Amino acid sequence: VSEISKKYIDMADKFGAHNYHPLKVVITKGSGEWVWDIDGKKYLDMLSAYSAVNQGHCHPRMQQTLMEQAQKVTLTSRAFHNDQMGPWLKQLTLLCKKDKALPMNTGAEAVETAIKVARKWGYLVKKVPRHQAEIIVCDHNFHGRTTTIVSFSSEPQYKDDFGPYCGGFRSVPYGDAAALEKAITPNTVGFLFEPIQGEAGIIIPAQGYLEKVSQICKKHNVLCIADEIQTGLGRTGKLFAHLYENCEPDLIILGKALGGAYYPISAVVGNDDILGLLKPGDHGSTFGGNSMACALSQTALSIIEDEKLADRAFKLGNQFREGLAHLPKKVVKEIRGKGLLNGIEIHPEAGKGRFYSELLQERGILAKETHDYTIRFAPPLVMKDESMRFAIDTISEVFAKT
Ligand code: PLP
Repeated sequence: VSEISKKYIDMADKFGAHNYHPLKVVITKGSGEWVWDIDGKKYLDMLSAYSAVNQGHCHPRMQQTLMEQAQKVTLTSRAFHNDQMGPWLKQLTLLCKKDKALPMNTGAEAVETAIKVARKWGYLVKKVPRHQAEIIVCDHNFHGRTTTIVSFSSEPQYKDDFGPYCGGFRSVPYGDAAALEKAITPNTVGFLFEPIQGEAGIIIPAQGYLEKVSQICKKHNVLCIADEIQTGLGRTGKLFAHLYENCEPDLIILGKALGGAYYPISAVVGNDDILGLLKPGDHGSTFGGNSMACALSQTALSIIEDEKLADRAFKLGNQFREGLAHLPKKVVKEIRGKGLLNGIEIHPEAGKGRFYSELLQERGILAKETHDYTIRFAPPLVMKDESMRFAIDTISEVFAKT
């Protein structure tokens, strides 16, 4: 690393908590699928801030909306109405084919919101005895980092030093519909799942799982809650990953790309019979639904639709997996993914993901390992064809060399 990069990295190390282990690159500029470091070196961003940059860095329409809204009003709180939230809610619910949405800021907050709403539905509608509601989750889930959410994580590092835990959750193997059905009790109010497990290493359940999940939930009067924070908004080649099957979630949780890489905004989307149960004072957030977030999110959603980013992700994703199908089997155990959410899993004998992330970085690709042996490749969906060719050529070279 250069002197100047080192200066910024040292500053972050000295004055910041070490809860991340970033690659040694200091980014100062971005455009579309590309970013530049402080020394002027250009990289293809194949992480997209964990799938939050679907629309690309600094999209001109996002920039325009930011500038316009910044000169009008940015934050009102929900104590008053603003002229951006209504139109955004209408656009989002139309897109999701649901009646209502509830705005929050981060993904974890939206997951917390869905948990609260499912419990309230359980007590008011399903008539589960007070404080006995159960929510079923999946082994190796990732839904965020709050104390409630880490309570039902199966990852020791995410939870071991952070108890006491919040009760009311039980976990079943991912991809196993029979295990889900068996775990349901009269007190079960919801099943919370990721249509593809991102953080766990791009784990794709067998075809038919999502449909079965949806049917089982319906049959047992349990809310089907899809966490599409990472998989949603075009990332996997459809607007939502659950649309690959005949799966109808009762609640859809969104975040990340909902803010178009400009602003944290998240939401829970569902029908009146569930979201309509909330009364004033039940739940809230100072920043949730603010004018700036809602203005930016309208543009973020329009870009996904106008530029047909889901179709683009579908096509480029096929190119990516086909283009890398020949990677040496000695090194690469598997390439898997849908659309532009892909993982390359490495044989443990061939080295750790970190090693390959650093090799890729040298050659101008930023990607990051998730856990030890899978590297996630999730570039902006606006990526150009020639950038995809660069990605395939560079990744091929890196894996062929080792
Ligand atoms: N749910 C899923 C599926 C995620 O991938 C993430 C973040 O990676 C979250 C929830 C948490 O989102 P946030 O980091 O915005 O709290």
